[in-house]
Amino acid sequence: MKMKWIDKNLHIKPINTHIDPFRPVENAIITHGHADHAKPGHKNVLATKETIEIMKIRYGENCADHFQELELNQTLNIDEVSITFFPAGHILGSVQVLTQFKGEKINFTGDYKTSKDKTCVNFEPVKCHTLVTEATFGLPVFQHPDEKKEINKLLHSLYLFPERPHLVGVYALGKTQRVISLLRQQGYNKNIFIHGSLEKLCNYYQENNVNLGKLSKVSLINKNDYNGEIILAPPSAIKNIWSRKFEDPIISQASGWMSIKQRAKQSLVELPLILSDHADWNELTNYIKISEAENVYVTHGREEAIVHWCKKNNINGLALSLSGREDEEEL
Ligand SMILES: [Zn+2]
Repeated sequence: MKMKWIDKNLHIKPINTHIDPFRPVENAIITHGHADHAKPGHKNVLATKETIEIMKIRYGENCADHFQELELNQTLNIDEVSITFFPAGHILGSVQVLTQFKGEKINFTGDYKTSKDKTCVNFEPVKCHTLVTEATFGLPVFQHPDEKKEINKLLHSLYLFPERPHLVGVYALGKTQRVISLLRQQGYNKNIFIHGSLEKLCNYYQENNVNLGKLSKVSLINKNDYNGEIILAPPSAIKNIWSRKFEDPIISQASGWMSIKQRAKQSLVELPLILSDHADWNELTNYIKISEAENVYVTHGREEAIVHWCKKNNINGLALSLSGREDEEEL
């Protein structure tokens, strides 16, 4: 198996363009705004309007020399290569990048999930010859539970402990807004408190018609003001001195990794909520089937199991083991 017009670093050779490059390059296509995919310092960036705006919020207006927007389901032709964005269902603005050259279609999923999410456009399956996929949760043991069941654990805990502040660890981009949206969908109408570092992106989602209801920045005047309230903060803030401001809080965290009990325990999480923005094992393998891809290249995550699964199903599988795509949920 040879990659002819793309290489292991997701470089599209005929148009000298990289997908989610880790280092500054001349031409970059960015699948979404998470820090392990969107880096500052490229000369030209092609992305959705939302991804570009998110990059500017995080890195500043001049984080690339030139930006070009491409809408979902629109095709851009550059020389002999055509590029089309399809929704990835991962976070606001996230896309899969379908590229076509001389009749061959290669689809780069970026990070994705196929389950529905009110905070972004839902995932859309695409057929291709070669699928370049993530595999963050690419082991059969990862089977994400129902999101409503998970969010109800938080509401149930509030009911059981109405005096205690509920401090929920969430990553700033995507997870924060999804947790808030899920709480609203379950009828939770009270004010939700957020750590200051989450404010800009929450505002940005609201401007993009994602309804998050009433949010207030935490401004600790009186410790007891937060009894029985939900407070969202980045996990790093919950681990440091910031969280000591709260009286006897229940420590929660919303992450796909919370399915690993050991991990929850290590981070002293009392109330783990298994909420992932990535495809689980079934979603990953189902999508490989639906895509009808003959070749599957796995960019990052648990590559071996997916590659093995491909071989069993007569599909060429190859692990690319891209560097720099760590546990994005830490970013
Ligand atoms: Zn991501």
